[in-house]
Amino acid sequence: MKISYIACAGLLALPFSSLSAIQPDTGPVEAVYQSQMANLREDGRMAAAFAHISEGHEANLQDLVTLTEVPAPPFAEEARAAVFADMMRATGFGEVTIDEVGNVIARRAGAAASHSVMMVAHLDTVFPAGTDVTVRIEGNRYTAPGIGDNTRGAVMLLQIASAIAAADIRTQGDIVLVGNVGEEGLGDLRGVRHLFLEQVNRPDVFIAIDGGDDARLVTSAVGSTRFRVTFNGPGGHSWGDFGDANPHHASARAITRFVNAARPITQDGPRSSYNIGRTGGGTSVNSIPFESWFEVDMRSGNPAKLAALEAVFQQAMVDGLEAENAVRGDGELLTVDIEAIGSRPAGEGDPMSPLTQRARALLEADGIMPVLVASSTDSNVPISLGIPAITISRCGTSARAHSLDEYWEDDGSVPACTMRGLALLVAEAELVEN
Ligand SMILES: [Zn+2]
Repeated sequence: MKISYIACAGLLALPFSSLSAIQPDTGPVEAVYQSQMANLREDGRMAAAFAHISEGHEANLQDLVTLTEVPAPPFAEEARAAVFADMMRATGFGEVTIDEVGNVIARRAGAAASHSVMMVAHLDTVFPAGTDVTVRIEGNRYTAPGIGDNTRGAVMLLQIASAIAAADIRTQGDIVLVGNVGEEGLGDLRGVRHLFLEQVNRPDVFIAIDGGDDARLVTSAVGSTRFRVTFNGPGGHSWGDFGDANPHHASARAITRFVNAARPITQDGPRSSYNIGRTGGGTSVNSIPFESWFEVDMRSGNPAKLAALEAVFQQAMVDGLEAENAVRGDGELLTVDIEAIGSRPAGEGDPMSPLTQRARALLEADGIMPVLVASSTDSNVPISLGIPAITISRCGTSARAHSLDEYWEDDGSVPACTMRGLALLVAEAELVEN
């Protein structure tokens, strides 16, 4: 999920899937990182890798078409994962396995096994089974659901794997490349969550490819908490049973209490938001409904803000229920069910971490001014755990993500952009001396 797109979980039509907030100015990149990145790019092995990426560009476009045409609906990524795993094996990068939840994991051991650097691209799309995913090609424009977000990210991972193998790039740390499941919507980052469940598999550095603007670096995680609330009662006739507790009235009391208490929390400090997105229930205008439901979404890049919003939300639901029950006649009491339907952890990354400074230095060397943003991506998981993480561009021009007329354009910048992703990965894993 995400350029202020409100998260590959789909709010705005921007390249990143979550509401983004520009981080404050962070000062210039330190000279040490600028020279480190310049030196890396001058290394002969990196030059060979770049040549390989440029020469393989046409074949990579074919991979993009092939992989896009293998459907990957939420919670049903197996078919695409199998094809992706075969493509990854064919690069000669390293050992390829598929884990319990369906993540495709390719490992290349480092010379020192000193640390591990993971780069991921999500395999899932937002589109349900049965969606026509045939790719239409017109000039440099490739149109198909899911082609940009994030099939292009997945084939960028293949390009990088292939270049590392072809140029025989060796690093001190392990490199782990993952085509992961469950990034979008109700997938709730389940693929990457799984990778971080067991300490033994946790990388020391994490790079996600997802997002359609080369200048944007996601360094902070917009977290979200979502609930579905249902007030239940016996229901009845609007005239005959008047005075019985009414679930819609309880909803109204609860929502009013919530928005009144939540608004002040959002008025200062780190950006935060709340929204009642859907409501429903009831059978007719002259019936007391037997249920009233609504769904709420709360977001912030700051964990304390998110916790504060959730606290006033929980209290408001209880108070709304009690207020409606208190004024009823002699009918049954209403009850309330509060179901968690989504949770993405929040966190603020360090804009001056070595990882972020290296990514910034690479962009600046190519004449692109980096923009640091907070968004909702697979990096939410490591950022919330305090592990250095960043989400970078999938390269090329992406548009209309999460819509049936989504397209991606081969705008001429792809090899150079892909090379920046490779250089960032190799710098973090530490190239062995020749
Ligand atoms: Zn995405």
